[in-house]
Amino acid sequence: MVFGGIQKLTLLDYPDRTACTLFTVGCNFACPFCQNTPLIRPTGKEQTFDALDILAFLKTRQGLLDGVCISGGEPLIHENLGAFIDEVKALGFYVKLDTNGSYPQRLKKLAESGRLDYVAMDIKNAPEKYPQTIGLPEYDVSPIEESIAFLCSGVIPYEFRTTVVRRFHTRSDLLTIARWISGADKYFLQGFIDSGEVLQSGLTAYSIAEMRQLLDSVKKELPATELRGV
Ligand code: SF4
Repeated sequence: MVFGGIQKLTLLDYPDRTACTLFTVGCNFACPFCQNTPLIRPTGKEQTFDALDILAFLKTRQGLLDGVCISGGEPLIHENLGAFIDEVKALGFYVKLDTNGSYPQRLKKLAESGRLDYVAMDIKNAPEKYPQTIGLPEYDVSPIEESIAFLCSGVIPYEFRTTVVRRFHTRSDLLTIARWISGADKYFLQGFIDSGEVLQSGLTAYSIAEMRQLLDSVKKELPATELRGV
């Protein structure tokens, strides 16, 4: 496994846990609003870490942190993720996985084998707008639907989330998503923030007032919806 970065402390990424976040390199999507361009389009000049580097770091955090968020990129593109998680859990950490939901079989295998304690899955947009939102010419959303159904079955704690970008998301799109994930435990509308390393420049967020209006609408379809990062 190759990692492109470590956030050594986060009080936000893992609900109710003091954690660090690991960023894996590579993704099968190319969302124009992706904040992690160096992870999905690496030039080869970026600093990287291998699993041994990460495990050595985690050993220094035993007793200080209780959780590890594995983010990306898309962590599930790495077939040996399960073996890495085994090492992380052997050090006593809870593990949260961030995923775009496009590898339902790998997600199920990790969850059902007890390797995951929490999953945050992105819902990029309404089904018909997936290709443009993930930067691909076409995309069959069947894997996304499979991941949604699996998480909604309640095997492990989870949340769904959508980064809301003015160019890609209308109120109608968000209502369609809410109906798509009907019955979900938690759904977050996240404000888009331009980190300066976004894949496509010129994208903008809705204002705080607009996000609150969107929340009011979506909550009527899915009461478990909240704002995050707004
Ligand atoms: S936003 Fe997530 S899913 Fe989209 S390209 Fe970036 S890392 Fe991949």
